[in-house]
Amino acid sequence: MRDKPNIVVLGTGGTIAGRGASHANTAAYACSVLTIDEVLAVLPQAHALANLRTEQLLQTGSENFNNEHLLLIGKRVSDMLEDADVDGVVLTHGTDTIEETAYFLHLTLKSVKPVVVVGSMRPPSAMSSDASLNLYEAICVAGHPASRGRGVLVVSNDEIHTARDVVKTNSFKLEAFGSPYGPLGYVVEGQPRYYRTTSRDHTVMTPWSIDRIESLPKVDIVYAYGALDEQAIVTFLGNTDGLVYAGTGNGNVAEHLVGALRRAARDGVQVVRASRTGSGVVVRDGAQPDSDYGWIVVDDQVPQKARILLMLAMSGEPKERDALQAAFHRY
Ligand code: ASP
Repeated sequence: MRDKPNIVVLGTGGTIAGRGASHANTAAYACSVLTIDEVLAVLPQAHALANLRTEQLLQTGSENFNNEHLLLIGKRVSDMLEDADVDGVVLTHGTDTIEETAYFLHLTLKSVKPVVVVGSMRPPSAMSSDASLNLYEAICVAGHPASRGRGVLVVSNDEIHTARDVVKTNSFKLEAFGSPYGPLGYVVEGQPRYYRTTSRDHTVMTPWSIDRIESLPKVDIVYAYGALDEQAIVTFLGNTDGLVYAGTGNGNVAEHLVGALRRAARDGVQVVRASRTGSGVVVRDGAQPDSDYGWIVVDDQVPQKARILLMLAMSGEPKERDALQAAFHRY
């Protein structure tokens, strides 16, 4: 039995590693300039929580992350989790796409050890920065036995979210993250306090292991509005493996776009009918005859995370559409 948990903190950049010219700079600052060791240097309290080991994995804003970054991060986190000396991992990350990386890890890591992804909305140099407290709370959560087996978690603003549900919902406030069904719990006085679990399968319960994935199919997103030209869809044909259509309302498709999306499905592109509303369920064979058209519906996932799930569902052996549809109702 160790006196403190052994936690690895992996740095990838973002605002949590940013620096502004003045304390008042909460939006104009240089992103991804502090190393993970420099970020931790102003947080000596963290060493009382855990034995910390650090590694600088990347140093860039998360808006730059592509599928190769996801694979690189996933494989490195997986290596760390396999080490018997490691009890949990904290990944510092830009907030812009934190939900995508966290969801990718949630579906592909094969471990019950806690993995916490954390960022901040204000750089450490700003007034009332959330960088140190978010990182401190992420380490508390990663080192606590109650966090085991819950899948990948995102800690922000005293809240613990499941990677499945969390979405960045605000572009500048400290209260920038939300989950449509609420957080799993809070961090209270340096202790995680959980109130619920996610009922959808994750980590050790999924068929996808990051250790076996070497590449991902190409999946793109089309954002809908009434004046959207069908050319926006046609451009992707022959150029992508899957298309998430972020439709209006309940995944509605304007009449003049139905043909292009049907053609996409006939050409072998997997079409997922999603919603741009940010929450709620898209009903299969509701507003559109999905079964006739060979389309998939997203269930309740937001388009940017539906892209992650579709890439994984399509990876490996070719799958029947029914199997892809089933994935959206299971994960
Ligand atoms: N552009 C930054 C990023 O996502 C913003 C942030 O970290 O809040 O990396």
